[in-house]
Amino acid sequence: MSDAFPALPSIPGFAIARLPRIEFGSGALARLPDIAAGYGRNLLLVTGLRSLAESVAGKRLFAQLAQRGLSWEQVRVSGEPSPEWIDATVAAWRERPFDCVVGIGGGSALDAAKAIAGLLRPGNSVMEHLEGVGPELPYLGPAIPLIAVPTTAGTGSEATKNAVLSVPGSFKKSFRDDRLVAEWAIVDPDLLAACPPELIAADGLDAFTQLLESFVSTRANPLTDALARSGIMAARAALPALHRQQSAAARAQMAYASLLSGICLAQTGLGSVHGLASPLGAFFPIPHGVVCGTLVASATARNITALEAREPDNPALPKYAEVGRRFAMQKGLNGPDARRFLVDTLRRWELELALPRLSAYGIGQDDLPRIVAASRGSSMKTNPIVLSDAELTEILASRL
Ligand SMILES: [Zn+2]
Repeated sequence: MSDAFPALPSIPGFAIARLPRIEFGSGALARLPDIAAGYGRNLLLVTGLRSLAESVAGKRLFAQLAQRGLSWEQVRVSGEPSPEWIDATVAAWRERPFDCVVGIGGGSALDAAKAIAGLLRPGNSVMEHLEGVGPELPYLGPAIPLIAVPTTAGTGSEATKNAVLSVPGSFKKSFRDDRLVAEWAIVDPDLLAACPPELIAADGLDAFTQLLESFVSTRANPLTDALARSGIMAARAALPALHRQQSAAARAQMAYASLLSGICLAQTGLGSVHGLASPLGAFFPIPHGVVCGTLVASATARNITALEAREPDNPALPKYAEVGRRFAMQKGLNGPDARRFLVDTLRRWELELALPRLSAYGIGQDDLPRIVAASRGSSMKTNPIVLSDAELTEILASRL
């Protein structure tokens, strides 16, 4: 008998940036008053437009905050926040000695809360820090402690360090810094119960896309891979089920997948879908989740074809195959068949979840060159293979 062991694979070096402390689970929202009180009595609540106060969960929360002796002001965000709105909100509330900012809502509300918490003390314009526009001055802080409470499952903003701000028709860019990461993410799947099915489908496909893009990113590492695998399978289990019929178990799986997508993307960056999503979302009134959902199958197919043709040894190829095998529940499936199964599954979701085409938002063939020209921001840089302008155009054209 030989005592030689097979050679162990080496683990490449990696770094994990700051993450929030996390409270996850049904009923986790009830922890918010105690956690907030740990920072002081004065809170600024940043919420979406849909009135939190009118929901059962919201009424209960406000009663608990009052019982805990906390006082608060509330600002509401309508749609994706603009730099102008952030600056005006910061100017309006600067003088108030808030101890903590609490963002409750979808990605837009959480991103707005992140930017406000970051700028209430320094007081300068967010335009000074936005990537790709303006002077891009370093952010020096200090930020007010932020507690992020997502009420949708999609963006994973509760775990990331960037606030996406947009000027419709012009740009959609990030204010990004480690100091903007929330102190706490309180992820309570019960809050998803109020989400309509179309929103669940689009948001869920955003989370899934973020997980898949993180998994094959050029900056992926063994730790993010483990999280991405876990999140991908949770999204796979929950997505179609949630769309058809809500259940507490499916809500929990989706909230978990979304949280993990945020944790992963903050470490690894994303890929071509998010590269294209940035100009698409800036130039057209198309929700971010819809962009991801409508492009993920075509973009994945295009990545795979390009990798097979030009970089057959790229580590993203076995990773796509691994996801396909897990989806098919067939360990023995060969690489090409497994990757085909993955793309076929994504195409099926596209149909089952009735994702609108790009043309439904007024996007036509003539718009493609300027979308492609503006797509090479930070997300595109971590796509597993560099795609040509013609390849990116083809992804878009297939979904017009
Ligand atoms: Zn996204």
